[in-house]
Amino acid sequence: MKIILKDIPDLQKLDIYESNGGYSTLKKALKDMSPDDIINEVKASNLRGRGGACFPTGLKWTFMPKVTEKPKYLCCNGDESEPGSFKDREIFEKNPHQFIEGTLLSCYAMGIKTAYVYIRGEYYKWINLLQKAIDDAYKKGYIGKNILGTNFSTDIYIHRGAGAYICGEESALMNSIEGKRGYPRVKPPFPATYGLWGNPTTINNIETLANIPEIIKNGHEWFLKIGEPKHPGTLLFGVSGHINKPGVYELETGTPLMTIINDYCGGMIDGKEIKMVIPGGSSMPPLTKEEALTIKMDDASLKAIGSAIGTAGVIVMNEDTDIVKVLERISQFYYHESCGQCTPCREGTGWLMRILKRINNGEGRIEDLDLLTDVSQNIEGNTICALGDAAAWPVKWTVKKFRDEFEKKIKKESVSLPVKNKVHSLR
Ligand code: SF4
Repeated sequence: MKIILKDIPDLQKLDIYESNGGYSTLKKALKDMSPDDIINEVKASNLRGRGGACFPTGLKWTFMPKVTEKPKYLCCNGDESEPGSFKDREIFEKNPHQFIEGTLLSCYAMGIKTAYVYIRGEYYKWINLLQKAIDDAYKKGYIGKNILGTNFSTDIYIHRGAGAYICGEESALMNSIEGKRGYPRVKPPFPATYGLWGNPTTINNIETLANIPEIIKNGHEWFLKIGEPKHPGTLLFGVSGHINKPGVYELETGTPLMTIINDYCGGMIDGKEIKMVIPGGSSMPPLTKEEALTIKMDDASLKAIGSAIGTAGVIVMNEDTDIVKVLERISQFYYHESCGQCTPCREGTGWLMRILKRINNGEGRIEDLDLLTDVSQNIEGNTICALGDAAAWPVKWTVKKFRDEFEKKIKKESVSLPVKNKVHSLR
């Protein structure tokens, strides 16, 4: 079952999209459905956000005020900077008009006249592809003033990010669009009441929005029958690592991880064993081989074992992987990307990275493992935004689940690594 990345050649072209029913849902909705009809349909479908938090989309939309004199905004989050996540660019490349149609339906539902698509600046190719699709849609009257001869008007603009991971966080994203430094905001107030320039704003992920036309066309009951009922629909699994065929695979929620790896990704390279799998982008707690062998890929199944579906960016690592080195690299990323506003994240991410570096440099101590856990727990839940948790979770859970790997390295049972950049203290 494919809802977004359908097997239709040249679907990115407007005429092909139209000849396969594209924009017919928008036409029907503007003629026969009220904004509330659309919100209720999306609510009933139980569509959950595909950007990482899995929040119910229809419920989020109801937070927007119906009557206000202020302008309302939709921010479409295509920042996609989490290591291991590369799915939204597939939509820009293979089916941009379905995303645009979903954006227009969402704007109609919430009474929004302006939508910004925030895309990371490095996605130069995909920014151009989406801009071409937006231009074509403007020319055919799908975007702009009095869309399809109705009173509904909406503009869509692309906003290029400048390369900061933190700008994928919704409030930092809004600051970035406003031309300010990408600092996350303290919440409350939440975006639905005080978002872009202090006005009501909803932020949705690209994949989330691309689901909307099919839900409105086929109805919520159709959508609820796909995949796991509590987390229905498909997910764009971006799979990377030690597998034969890395790529983006659209599959139903609840698909077993090993089906994804063996049936779609061609199995492990050289038939090696799995050692660790990160299921939803680098910030998600990792899975052991035993967990990977039986886990189903949906929100509830992963939460039940202390992880989460995140962005469905799956990173597969084989038996030869140096887990401590992987964790140091991940920690280095979050340390580099911390915006520095809050102390636990600004200081703690650096501590985590330096302790891990120390262990990798052959200067680790057994008590460092409890120290890593302690520092992680002091970051978690004590910061303005979720980057703190994103930095803490992989460390806390990797130490917990792969403690023997760390102990071996500290006790030098494993191959000793060259000592460089010696760090003798945490400062
Ligand atoms: Fe900045 Fe980190 Fe605090 Fe988020 S958690 S606001 S990234 S310092």
